Amino acid sequence: MSVEKQGHTKVFSPTNLQDLLSYYRDHPKAVPFAGGTYLFLRKGPRERFGGELIDLGHVSELSQISRTERYMEIGPAVSISKIINTGRHVMPRALFAALKAIGNTAVRNHATLGGNICARNHRLSTYPVLLLLDVRLELRRAGETRWINLNRFITGDEGPVLGPGELVTRIRIPFMDWDVEEFRQQERLFTPEHFIFCGIVSKQKDVISDLRTSFCIGNRRIIRTRIMEAELIGRKLPIPPADRLEMGRMLQQQIERNHPEMDNFHIHRIRRSLNWFLQILNDSE
Ligand SMILES: Cc1cc2nc3c(=O)[nH]c(=O)nc-3n(C[C@H](O)[C@H](O)[C@H](O)COP(=O)(O)OP(=O)(O)OC[C@H]3O[C@@H](n4cnc5c(N)ncnc54)[C@H](O)[C@@H]3O)c2cc1C
Repeated sequence: MSVEKQGHTKVFSPTNLQDLLSYYRDHPKAVPFAGGTYLFLRKGPRERFGGELIDLGHVSELSQISRTERYMEIGPAVSISKIINTGRHVMPRALFAALKAIGNTAVRNHATLGGNICARNHRLSTYPVLLLLDVRLELRRAGETRWINLNRFITGDEGPVLGPGELVTRIRIPFMDWDVEEFRQQERLFTPEHFIFCGIVSKQKDVISDLRTSFCIGNRRIIRTRIMEAELIGRKLPIPPADRLEMGRMLQQQIERNHPEMDNFHIHRIRRSLNWFLQILNDSE
């Protein structure tokens, strides 16, 4: 483990998980980083930390990708570029699209999936996708390991839920057979207009057997309307225009009930995305 001092900031660079967890236990105020592309973008140059940083990028256990028949496991310090190159033929297509949408090649060469999930104040590009895929995270601190579903790691405005000295050490993505997967991201990151839609569907012949959608507004508010999803599951394709309109109305009612603060502009975008997705679903027959 090396310790480097830059101005008022100390940077610790452990090379194995045991050293990392012991160090973090003894220095719980230290700030971990992987690619640093979110942290330093948000916080400015290292000097402004004036404290301790822990560089996760040299910890071999956090930099691996593995797979079984049922799932793919990604270390939180693996770069987005490496995940794209290694997993392009096996990972869910919506996740692939979300990863490709992150920054540019230079950013993706440094940025990691761990950093994308653990960003404190924002729900970033992969989050609305991983949420639908029932992703689980391994969290570790010195002497303790636990697994948690992503939807409990971040709930509403809360999270990521990490105790002192605790880190994400593995990201497990189950393989499921999705027939239709769509991801789209619009407008500039970190603006109130930023918008992400993700929808995934599995079908049995021409019947919808599973359908999940998520919307993320302003890199903060996540919307998942399970009542509307349940309404669509079991339906035969194609969905007629009148029913699509009805789904849009139902979605709007649910949002108005659960998110009264949401303005008409965003409600309209959400309805439009749903309608677009249902059209794609009809065309997928
Ligand atoms: C030009 C540019 C464009 C960008 N475009 C996009 C975009 O389109 N979409 C998008 O989603 N993001 C974008 N980003 C932001 C960023 O690049 C990504 O979100 C990236 O995935 C963050 O990963 P990182 O490893 O750099 O995170 P870091 O900056 O290293 O860390 C982010 C946060 O996670 C915490 N953290 C990191 N790893 C762990 C861990 N294992 N356990 C616990 N906490 C941890 C850190 O303490 C920090 O709070 C962009 C950035 C730039 C500079």
